[in-house]
Amino acid sequence: MVNRLKPYEILYESLKLTLDLTERIVTEDEQVALRSFMRNGVKVLERALRDADEGKPIIGYHFAMPGEIVQCFDAIPLCFEAVPYLMAALFPDGAEYYYDKIHSFGSPYHSCTSQKGIMGMYLDQIADFDLVVCPTAPCDNTIASYQFFSNHAKKPLLVADMPYYRTKEAYQYFADEIARQINEISKLINQEPNWDKFKTAVQNSSKAQEYLIEINEMRRNIPCPIESIVNPLITGATVIMAGTPEKTQFFKDVRDLMRKRIKNGEGRLGEERFRSIWPNISIFFDIGLYEWLDRVVGLSYLVDVFTYYYYEPIYSNNIDEILLGIAKQCMNYPMTHQAQSFIEIMIEDTLWAAKEFKADCAIMTGHLGCKQIASAIQLIRETLRDELDIPMLTLEVDIGDKRFTSIETIKYEIEEFAKTLL
Ligand code: SF4
Repeated sequence: MVNRLKPYEILYESLKLTLDLTERIVTEDEQVALRSFMRNGVKVLERALRDADEGKPIIGYHFAMPGEIVQCFDAIPLCFEAVPYLMAALFPDGAEYYYDKIHSFGSPYHSCTSQKGIMGMYLDQIADFDLVVCPTAPCDNTIASYQFFSNHAKKPLLVADMPYYRTKEAYQYFADEIARQINEISKLINQEPNWDKFKTAVQNSSKAQEYLIEINEMRRNIPCPIESIVNPLITGATVIMAGTPEKTQFFKDVRDLMRKRIKNGEGRLGEERFRSIWPNISIFFDIGLYEWLDRVVGLSYLVDVFTYYYYEPIYSNNIDEILLGIAKQCMNYPMTHQAQSFIEIMIEDTLWAAKEFKADCAIMTGHLGCKQIASAIQLIRETLRDELDIPMLTLEVDIGDKRFTSIETIKYEIEEFAKTLL
């Protein structure tokens, strides 16, 4: 029999155990952000598992689809891309077994791994869902991979068509697409949308975003008052805690820690010798990397594509305005903003972040599966060199699979790069 939510059960048990060990052996003022992520993540997963026991429907959703829309219903949101990357952070072999499973099934090795983990878990019968929602964004990989869920898994796949342009008409068109999706979910699971629940979810995420705006303001300080590990944690919280009070609490805890450190004239642990921005996303398969960056290399990791939101919080109480706000957020969501439309947006974002955060360098993580971002790497490198005279290191990695490029190789490349910054 298929255990429909086994991946969440695995993550829950592992996070709970890691939290328990941390509470016992690490003092309260250490690893504050990591501890808050685990405390809040455990609550989110616990609620999902309880709801699964009660037989509530499971809605699989793409990370670029605002998870708040699932909160319209009495249903369990399952973010497909978050699961394997969280596994990669928590287990030595991450979701590699499931990547191999889907590769054996025929998924090409040269596509992005973000959906492969959950596809392998579906084949292994440890994950299942009632329906799937996704946008036609941020990339061809998404569009190609999600056909697995409709064609092979035979699940209803509700796709919101995203325009390329960011105009008033385009935002309204996409808001109508989201409204259509909500309407179709309603019919498929036989539930009316609960707009009050939806509004609360949007308020929770907007409050979390207010904290993130303040976090990012404080990250401009020299030295940076927060550890580099906060980047993968913010990415995880953004996608797996969407619309929950736990997301708000996590961002508040990070904000409070940074405020306290600034008030006391403290920086993060370890000396800050260099400051870096990461134009793409964090590496998940070895989160010890971030402590190594802080303490050994003295390299602050200030911001990346997932930890600075290029959209506004939503404050309206009117459903049409909220849907329009959600459409704007979705079209400017992390990675979608940079990769779905025209590539100069990614170049401009990187240049802007490097200037704003006073970076000495950039570190780009890239995978051969991500054709659109790969196509921008040389252009970004040249722009940073010509405009700001700062270098960029490119790490060819798979953020969830250590076999692609080992952590030893990654550390060696960063160390050699850091020597050139002296
Ligand atoms: S990394 Fe690239 S290929 Fe993968 S989901 Fe993001 S935009 Fe798509």
